[in-house]
Amino acid sequence: MASSSHEEALVTLLNSRAYSTLPDKLDLPELVEDVLRPFGGTTGQLDLVRAVRDDLVGLVTVDPRDSAADWAAFSGRVSSVTFQQDFSTPGAVRLRQVSGDPVVGSIVLSVAAVVEAGNWTRLKLCANDLCTEVFYDTTRSRTRRWHSYEICGNRTNVAAYRARNS
Ligand SMILES: [Zn+2]
Repeated sequence: MASSSHEEALVTLLNSRAYSTLPDKLDLPELVEDVLRPFGGTTGQLDLVRAVRDDLVGLVTVDPRDSAADWAAFSGRVSSVTFQQDFSTPGAVRLRQVSGDPVVGSIVLSVAAVVEAGNWTRLKLCANDLCTEVFYDTTRSRTRRWHSYEICGNRTNVAAYRARNS
């Protein structure tokens, strides 16, 4: 998986939760595949995937300075997943999963890639309380607040404008 698609896959996973007016996509058999395919599977331990997803949404919203316990809890959650360094191809090395659910293993690798790149805090919840869609902030300043400025930014701007002028 290319590094840029780790973020995309995680955004899709986190937005599969029930939020705003949308249902939990992992409850909808026709949508489960779309959520899990980027992680190399079409099925998996959905209860564990849901729990992992909840952990990750919490890790997106928590203040990074207070996140150590949450990250420790996530480590415990996925402790059934283990990897081994595989040197079987000369000149190459890759992490091969040796235990645990393959989809959860792939999610763990994506989280690891984003964390290692220093980009975890780019994952954010849209600041519009009626929306809360997860998005990946690619701005240099990391100050983007809305998943879509057109949809959610404007409404907030309008509200602020009205408050100032009322
Ligand atoms: Zn939004």
